[in-house]
Amino acid sequence: MKTLFVHAHYDDYEFTAAGTFELLRSSLNEQFQSKVIICTDGEAGHHFRTREETGRIRFEEQRRSAQIGGYCFELLRLPDGRVPREACLRVTPEFLAALWKAIRDFEPDYLFCPPLPADPLAGVHVDHLAVAQAVREVAYMINVPHAFTPEYPADETVSKPCKVPVIIAVYDGYMFGGNTHDIAIDVEPAFEKITQMTWCHQSQIMEWLPWVGRHRMETPRNIDDWCATLRRRFDRKNRELGIDSPHAFEVFTVTAWGEIPQYSQIERDFAVGLDRAASHLDQLRDRLARWHGPD
Ligand SMILES: [Zn+2]
Repeated sequence: MKTLFVHAHYDDYEFTAAGTFELLRSSLNEQFQSKVIICTDGEAGHHFRTREETGRIRFEEQRRSAQIGGYCFELLRLPDGRVPREACLRVTPEFLAALWKAIRDFEPDYLFCPPLPADPLAGVHVDHLAVAQAVREVAYMINVPHAFTPEYPADETVSKPCKVPVIIAVYDGYMFGGNTHDIAIDVEPAFEKITQMTWCHQSQIMEWLPWVGRHRMETPRNIDDWCATLRRRFDRKNRELGIDSPHAFEVFTVTAWGEIPQYSQIERDFAVGLDRAASHLDQLRDRLARWHGPD
């Protein structure tokens, strides 16, 4: 199984999907391949470090997390080589072209990305919203070989088909109250690993997140402190999503943006950790059957 995680910022992966990827990796071993792509330079989110310093530190933090999590990660580069600026990501032809190239190069079975809010009252983070919208807009173009040959020249007389992934939206803490889910994965067995990976993001959890105040958190004094804070975050998310369990969960919603999977495929591929009581499997089964239409 090949999974690609595309999101806006350093640390978005660890807070939304790292546990599930970890479970898949331990159950599939070398049959599992994953990549994390971050779409902004990460230079905006700090209060006493310069933009340049922040970007450099964040990159290093993600690199350490990737070593612990055993995934490869890269920054998304626009066709001219620049990494998009944090805090002002927009859906542009250049951003779509870069995403298209990155997805086609990896050819994942599953692509994970941020969700689009269904409710206009839901809050958003501009960069999360732009990634979600861009993935949705580029999805049909994944198997259109000449869509971005002006940016990435190729022999336009020879084309081979490109696999279109199933596109799955993750939870988004910035649209608090606007989240929904189809499947809930019990990632408790990966909780310690998630703690270690998130702990790598020191400039976020020790400095920025407590300062910006959006996440209702105290500055942790050490990793045990952070472990307790992380547990409270998972508990709060469970309450928001109506999941009655002391375990840590990650939740996902299947979109029709890319390949539409069969229900049995989702059930089989995410069997590891799939919690039936905490998921909305009937709703997913009905929706996928409706999207497939009658045989
Ligand atoms: Zn983010």
